[in-house]
Order: sequence, then C-alpha cells, then structure tokens
Amino acid sequence: MGKNHPNVEEYVVSRVRALESLLLEKGILAPGAVDQLVSRYENDTGPMVGARAVAKAWTDPDYKRLLLDDSPAALAQFDLKYDLLVVVENTDDVHNLVVCTLCSCYPWPVLGLPPTWYKSPAYRARSVIEPRALLREFGLEIPEQQEVRVWDSSAELRYMVLPQRPAGTEHLTEEALLPLITRDALVGVAQVKAPATVG
Ligand code: FE
Repeated sequence: MGKNHPNVEEYVVSRVRALESLLLEKGILAPGAVDQLVSRYENDTGPMVGARAVAKAWTDPDYKRLLLDDSPAALAQFDLKYDLLVVVENTDDVHNLVVCTLCSCYPWPVLGLPPTWYKSPAYRARSVIEPRALLREFGLEIPEQQEVRVWDSSAELRYMVLPQRPAGTEHLTEEALLPLITRDALVGVAQVKAPATVG
C-alpha cells in the first residue's frame, strides 16, 4: 500500500466484500457475524476503552504514566491487546491534534469507528496547513501561546489525545468523569468540559 493510498479504499472494500461472500458461501462465516463485529466497534469498544483509560489516568497518576509511556500495558488492564497506540498529553502549553494525512488510519479498538469528517480531504489537509483555523470551526479556540502539535497516523502508529481534566471536576470519581470524555476530545478537536452545574 505505502504511498499509493488514494485508491486503497475502493480496492479494500471490493476485496472485503468478495471475501465476505466467499466465507458465507463456504459456511465458514456465520450470517450476521460481520454485522456483529461492526456493532461491537460502534457500540461496545470505542470510544469506551479510550475514554475509560483517560478517566483512569486522571484519577491515578501511576496509570497516567503507564498510559503515556507504555500504552499496550495500560490498555491490557482493560483486556485490550493493542500495540499501535501512542498517547499524547494535552497541557497548558500544548494542544495535540490527530489526523491521517494519507487516508484514514485510526485506532478503532480504542476509539470505535472513525467519524466521517476524519476521512475528509479537507480535514486531512487543513489539520496540517491551518490547524488553528480548523479547530476554530470545531468550536475550539487555541490561545496563541499554546502550541498545536499535529500527529500523523500511519499503518504502524495510531494516536490518541489525553485531554486536560477540566477545572471544577476535582471532586468527581473515575466513573463520574467517564461520560464527560468524548471521542472528539480524544482526537483533539474538542476539549473535555466540566458538567454544567445545577442550582
Ligand atoms: Fe492512513
């Protein structure tokens, strides 16, 4: 595949379709097995595993170190075997943004199915050329003094952002933090917001 990415998608789709029909025909693949797999990625895994790892990292400094230094070991604690992931941490000085400029490489097991915009030529190009303008359209204003780092995913390496824990959530438990962590924040096009205070 390498640099000849543009036509890969069409080729892969037709190959996968052909393979799927063949496996069904031979009785190797049970009808519905593929749907089940897709549903697993849509509903069960991501962004659940990624969000769970972040919620744990926010409440457990040792786990945070592990997630940043050795993500396979950190993900193994959630029964996930995945060794392609690099986790990059947002700080007051750095905002991280993830893209695949060549196609649509994405850490599926950790974040689930990629959003449509992630694969769009506009996102792939503009994240590199004008990340701040792009992020502004996602509703995210990055202050001048904060550096924007763009991480280009590949077949060998996938990235996930460790977002900043929002102010005002110091009292929240790992379980309470979890629903605040969105897929967009893990890709770097959003920040995690504290829950709206009631009363
Ligand atoms: Fe790619």
